Formats: sequence, structure tokens, C-alpha cells
Amino acid sequence: MKQSGRRVIIVGGGHAGCEAAAAAARMGAEAILVTHKRSTIGEMSCNPAIGGVGKGHLVREIDALDGIMAKAIDRSGIQFRMLNASRGPAVRGPRAQADRKLYKAAVQSLLAEQENLEIVEAAVEDLIVKDDRCCGVILSSGEKLEADAVVLTTGTFLRGLIHRGQERIPAGRVGEAPATTLGERLEAMQLPLGRLKTGTPARLAFASIAWDALEMQPADVRPVPFSFLTDRIEVQQISCGITETNHATHRVIAENIEKSAVYSGAIAGKGPRYCPSIEDKIVRFAEKASHQIFLEPEGLSDDTVYPNGISSSLPADVQDAFLRTIKGLDDVEVKEYGYAIEYDFVDPRSLTKSLELRALSGLYLAGQINGTTGYEEAGAQGLVAGASAASSSGPLEISRSQGYIGVLVDDLVSRGVSEPYRMFTSRAEYRLSLRADNADDRLTPLGTAFGLVGEQRAEAFHVKHSSWKALRSWAEETKMTPNEAAAHGFSVKQDGRRRSVLDLLSLPAVSMTDLAKIHPRLADLSPDEAAKLEADATYSGFLDRQAEDIAGFQKYEALQIPTDFDYSGLPSLSAEVRQRLDTTRPATLGQASRIEGMTPAALALLSVALRKSS
Ligand code: FAD
Repeated sequence: MKQSGRRVIIVGGGHAGCEAAAAAARMGAEAILVTHKRSTIGEMSCNPAIGGVGKGHLVREIDALDGIMAKAIDRSGIQFRMLNASRGPAVRGPRAQADRKLYKAAVQSLLAEQENLEIVEAAVEDLIVKDDRCCGVILSSGEKLEADAVVLTTGTFLRGLIHRGQERIPAGRVGEAPATTLGERLEAMQLPLGRLKTGTPARLAFASIAWDALEMQPADVRPVPFSFLTDRIEVQQISCGITETNHATHRVIAENIEKSAVYSGAIAGKGPRYCPSIEDKIVRFAEKASHQIFLEPEGLSDDTVYPNGISSSLPADVQDAFLRTIKGLDDVEVKEYGYAIEYDFVDPRSLTKSLELRALSGLYLAGQINGTTGYEEAGAQGLVAGASAASSSGPLEISRSQGYIGVLVDDLVSRGVSEPYRMFTSRAEYRLSLRADNADDRLTPLGTAFGLVGEQRAEAFHVKHSSWKALRSWAEETKMTPNEAAAHGFSVKQDGRRRSVLDLLSLPAVSMTDLAKIHPRLADLSPDEAAKLEADATYSGFLDRQAEDIAGFQKYEALQIPTDFDYSGLPSLSAEVRQRLDTTRPATLGQASRIEGMTPAALALLSVALRKSS
């Protein structure tokens, strides 16, 4: 068993905490996961689904670094779908709806199998701070646990407050107490706190839905696993129903809008713009006659249905009334009403790129506490924080050109958040290179060198990479003449040039299936190999150009800014820019360039000053 001698305490058994604990343990640290309840470890607070466009990329990157999320969803996914399957490989997003209970069980069993990891069921109420360093936690029992580093992943629990109509219930999630004392302690320590909100829809009884009246959406015929180590998905796949709101639904909501917690002015925190409540949709998109709803069963042996797209904080009677106007839901029974939740978050600009608080070393923050939303965003941060907290040889840093995890962390610490942050492919400037299919090529070697990747994955990657290199060479070297191409029905210029498999694949009129009829080897490719070959063919010129852009970006990133750099020594900087630089304390000139409000003139000044001082 690998052991580093470091001890790391992780507070919270949500998606960030589980990845942080597993990562710290894989690094050889003694990892102690302290969480309210063992039974809620790996709980999906809201929608039972993992992945999607952008988010799916994060899951594959977590997997490439030997994390647990992809393995857990492969063991519990009941509807795998590749989103944007007909579009280019860069924007395809793997998504799977989960059996909520199976997902939680998979996470719990993966943690149980992990060496160096202990789980303690308790509430953390305070931190132990000595010599400006966080070195442990104090439990509600008064017991003290000491450590070299602490990772806080408290999700929506910090002073969480549920809103439903006029009801206000202090809670971290429905039925679970909030972390109030810890929130007060963080405030007393003068951490830069803010309030955000998110919401969830009512849960419906399966048998009360008229499924026959609905259009059904099936799973993909050949589900593509998330984990690079999973060969095939064994879990039974199911369909979900599709319905929509209508004029009557909108009328009920509009007539009761002032009863919604959000519209009565009771909530100060900002919610996610791109994931609005049904009340928000009706007010903001008044011209739309209907909004689509996916009715997603929460499990194979669960009679709960999650209606995706209609989160609400209206009172229970109004939720009943609007739900029953919807096709298929005429006689619906609600098992649990929707609600909005408001909670504290910490301004992530107060963190370094390893997610350690600049003002208090030894304290790392990951997940919803940093202003993000989503299991995948939480898991990715947990992995970075847990690995860095456990490392005795510097932090785990992933750049924007290496992965979506790098984009996520850099966006958070450089730009902060004004609403719950969610990953989109449009946030990445190098997205042709940062694809779901090549996450292991990009990150497994980096993770292996850092000590984060276990032997089994490192070995599997080595074998897969060798076989990919052989396939890539074959696809470049196997050629046919224009005449041969024409004989196979491919329309190519009769210019005498022999074209490789890769050349042919780059032609819009030639598909992998066409070529597989001539080269049977192509019929047996794994989905990742097929996507990589397709991407290399389709994006060939663009990828070369992107490689040049990345080299330019890396030069800028290499210009380090000392942590104690005195911006007041640059009087030509405007007071506003200076204040932003002081708040964020960018680590490199590249990071400084991404701070909101930075001007080319300010960057030029900074660049000259850095070169002079180096
Ligand atoms: P969580 O999953 O919240 O886990 C926090 C963990 O910390 C819990 O196990 C808790 O028990 C533990 N904990 C907290 N404080 C302490 C303490 N002091 N001591 C010990 N243990 C502690 N995401 C989306 O992507 N889309 C959505 O539509 C969406 N809607 C949501 C709606 C609601 C009502 C909620 C609650 C969440 C929603 N989310 C949504 C967010 C998603 O659930 C979170 O982003 C994700 O779970 C965050 O993971 P996390 O690990 O940061 O925290």
C-alpha cells in the first residue's frame, strides 16, 4: 500500500468530497472523510443524471485521472445517450440517467474498496487553526481531529435555507439539517461569503402518470461507457417520457407568480440563468407557448419520477394545480414537492489554482461551496483539491489547454462567479483538442506522473495507447488511387494522388461505415478509437493550428507573477484594475489576462514590470 505520511480530512460526502477523499487516498495520504451521514454518501441532490455536453467531458477527465464518478455511473446508468451524436466529435457529450440508489451504492462501494480511506459519521462545526494554518476540524461532539490539510466540500449545506411558497425551512437538502455553525465560523474568519440559490422540481409517483399518452425516448442501442476501464454497460436500459407545459399550465403559474418564493422577493441569492425554474421560464420567455419536460424514472425498482425542466418554489397546492394541466399528468400524485434552496458560497477568487485558500494555507475548498452547480463540476474540483492537499511535492495543476478541469478551475479563481457556474463546451478555447474521446491521452500520463493514477489504469492506458498509435499509422499509410476510390463509389478528384484512409475519412461524403466495408478493421473499433480517428481526419488542419495557439498560450502562462507582487508599485494601473489584481492575485500573466476588466494597456504594463523584475 502506497503511503505518503500526510493526513487529509475531507468534510462532506457529496460528489466533491468523494472524489477528494478517493484522490487523497490514491496519493497515499491517510484520508479521513467526515460527513453527516454514511447513508447519504454519493447522494444525487437533484436530477439523477451524470454528464451532458461539457459536463460529460469533465466526467471522462475525472476518470482519466483515476477518479470514481465514471465507474459509478457505468454501474448504475439506466439510460445512456450520446448527446450531439450527429455533430463533430468535439461537442459530443456522453450523458446517462442514473438509478439513484444504484449510483449511491456504487460510490459507497468504490470508497469502501479504496485503501487509506476512513469514513467518520459526524458534523464538523469548526476548524483548528494554528500559526495561520488550518490543521484540523472540531466535531459537534467537541472532538478534535488533526491533519496536515482540510478539504471543505459542504455543498448547499452552509446556512442552507429551503423556500417553498411562504415556507422557510433551514436545511442543506430536503430532510437534512444545514451546516449553520460552520457557516458562522467561516464568516467570523472573514472569508468572502455570498449567497446563491438553486431549485428542484416535484417528484412524481410512476403509477399516476399516463405513460401511454406520451412520446417515449429510448436509450442508445449501444451505450458508450464513461470509464476508459469499462468494456460494456451491463445495466438494463429504459426509456423516459416526453411531455410539455401548455397555455393552461402557464396561466396557473402566472396567476400565482407572487406566491413563488423567488418572485415574492424572499430570496437574495442568484440562481442559474441557464437552468431556470418554471416560474422564471414563464416570465422570461413569455412568448413561448410550451416548455419541454422529460419524465425520468429514478430507478429500475423505484416508483419515483423526476420531471426534468420544471423546478419550482411555488406553494404545494399551486404545484399540484399546474402539474395536472400537463399531458400525461392529469391525475398525477406528488411524492415530494419542489423547492428552492439558498446557501452560502465562498468567492473562489480567494483560492489558488489548487483550490487552497490564499489567506489560510492548509484549507482547500471544492464543489458547490465555490459557487458551482452540478455533480461533475463538484467532482472535478474535489479531485484537484484532494490530490493537491495530499501531495508533498506541489499542487496538481491542469492548464486550460490540457483539460476542461483546467478551464473550470481557471475560470473560478480568475473570474469568480456571479451565478452558479456550470460547464459548457463554449467555455474552452481549445475544444477541438479537449474532446471526451481523448481525455485519457491528455490526462492519464499527467496523473500517473503525479502519483494519482493506480497501476491497473496506467497499464491499461499503455496498452490502449500503443494500439491507437498502430491504428493511426495504418490509417495514414493505407492508401488507394483515385481510380480505386471511384470504383468503391467515392467521389474524389481524379488528380492521380493516392489518398489514405484518414484523407478519405475527412471527406464529408465518406463515412466510417463506408470505409469499414473495404477495411473490416474499422468495423471493430471502440467508440473512442472511432471518434479519435474521425476527429484527426475532420479537424486535421485545425488541430495543427490549435497546437500553435496552445504553444503561444503556454508562453504567456509561463510568465509567473510572484505571490507578493506589489501592484501599488505600478502607478499607471487604474485603481479598479489594481483592486481586481489584488483580489485575485493571479499566478501568471496568462491568468491576469483573463480577469474581468483587464485591459491590453494594463497587461502591457504588468508584462514590462515582470520582465524587469525577473
Ligand atoms: P453536496 O452534494 O451538497 O454534498 C455536501 C455533503 O457535505 C453532504 O454529504 C453533507 O451531508 C455534507 N456536509 C455538509 N456540511 C457538513 C458538515 N459541517 N459536517 C459534515 N458533513 C457536512 N445541480 C445541477 O447540475 N443541476 C440542478 O438542476 C441542480 N439542482 C439542485 C437543486 C437542489 C435543491 C440542490 C440541493 C442541489 C441542486 N444541484 C443541481 C446541485 C448539485 O446537487 C450539487 O452541485 C452537487 O451535489 C454539489 O456537490 P458537492 O459535493 O459540492 O455538495
